[in-house]
Amino acid sequence: MNTPVNLLDFDQDGLVAWFAERGEKPFRARQVMRWLHREGCDDFTAMTDVAKSLRARLQAEACVRSPSPIRDSVSSDGTRKWLLDVGNANAVETVFIPEASRGTLCISSQAGCALDCAFCSTGKQGFNRNLSAGEIIGQLWLANRLLGAARDVAPGASLEQGGESAGDLEGEPDSGRMISNVVMMGMGEPLANYENVVTALRLMLDDHAYGLSRRRVTVSTSGIVPAIDRLREDCPVALAVSLHAPDDALRDQLVPINIKYPLRELMAACVRYLDRAPRDFVTFEYVMLDGINDSDAHARALVALVRDVPCKFNLIPFNPFPGSAFRRSGSDRIRRFAGILIDAGIVTTTRKTRGEDVDAACGQLAGQVQDKTRRTIRLENLREAR
Ligand code: SAH
Ligand code: SF4
Repeated sequence: MNTPVNLLDFDQDGLVAWFAERGEKPFRARQVMRWLHREGCDDFTAMTDVAKSLRARLQAEACVRSPSPIRDSVSSDGTRKWLLDVGNANAVETVFIPEASRGTLCISSQAGCALDCAFCSTGKQGFNRNLSAGEIIGQLWLANRLLGAARDVAPGASLEQGGESAGDLEGEPDSGRMISNVVMMGMGEPLANYENVVTALRLMLDDHAYGLSRRRVTVSTSGIVPAIDRLREDCPVALAVSLHAPDDALRDQLVPINIKYPLRELMAACVRYLDRAPRDFVTFEYVMLDGINDSDAHARALVALVRDVPCKFNLIPFNPFPGSAFRRSGSDRIRRFAGILIDAGIVTTTRKTRGEDVDAACGQLAGQVQDKTRRTIRLENLREAR
């Protein structure tokens, strides 16, 4: 028997094509899409307005499969983090950050990452594999279901927190959904898994699926210039760029992809992107590393670097992990650094560290799992230990 096809792997065009191969009309594909993504339904027999014969065929040939949670932790500040099994002892993470006016889901694009930024625990794990489109959108699909279930149990639970989101996204009136914003800031480099990420982005934007506006979906990249240009053509959502240094000499060390795509090219790509972007600025993320990239001189050099790029800055206090060689900049230093950017007229926010008691940041929990698997403790043991 053929392996069933995971329908979460398809965007609208893909699903219409798959249905067409079976002699089914496009509207049928859209009908099923709405069941899958709007209703979060994984049971073909429950799709009551779909013809019975088609339901039987789907049952035989297709499935709806998202990654399955190994761990589900809720922080005292309401941040919720899932560790998801993606097979072969690999795990990725998804984080939900509830705030007063929005709910942001931070999702992963790869198991591990090949780009090896010096301060990143995901990078330290090395690259395992790209997530499929179904595994990427599956994180949103699953979170919607799990959060929906939580709402049934405790209406409005953990939605009372204030603060800034991971993605420096402007607060807008609540859209009435638990998840109003998605940021691709979990594990992996989204633009190094381009096709699958774009398929998932299209589903996020599609009215038959999640219907999010392009302003509420953010891709964060370490700066793969040709892929930024492709994204501008294919699916221009909000763009965040991990800058972390004001000059090539330092950035080459912290973000090694800079050796291939240096700052001058990256800044030019950001300006080009803004032609098509849903927002009129790029968000620059800047991790604050004590004594490394956080001096007044670095801040002034940044102001000069981004002179021609409409942008905002999001300063991220470094999140230490076992074996990391860096320290987080002190809060006074961060304030002073931010002050220099603000005085130069650049909107600058400092990310609040959220969910620290569940390690809800930057690959930390999945990092621990990887370390254990290296010591050959298998995921099965983890499940039992839960
Ligand atoms: N690969 C993409 C997106 C995932 S990382 C990128 O690099 O942009 C999301 C953000 O977290 C990036 O800005 C990244 O540089 C930052 N980051 C990684 N490790 C960190 C750490 N230990 N502390 C603080 N920020 C970190
Ligand atoms: Fe990869 Fe982003 Fe981590 Fe760099 S910061 S290693 S690009 S996940």
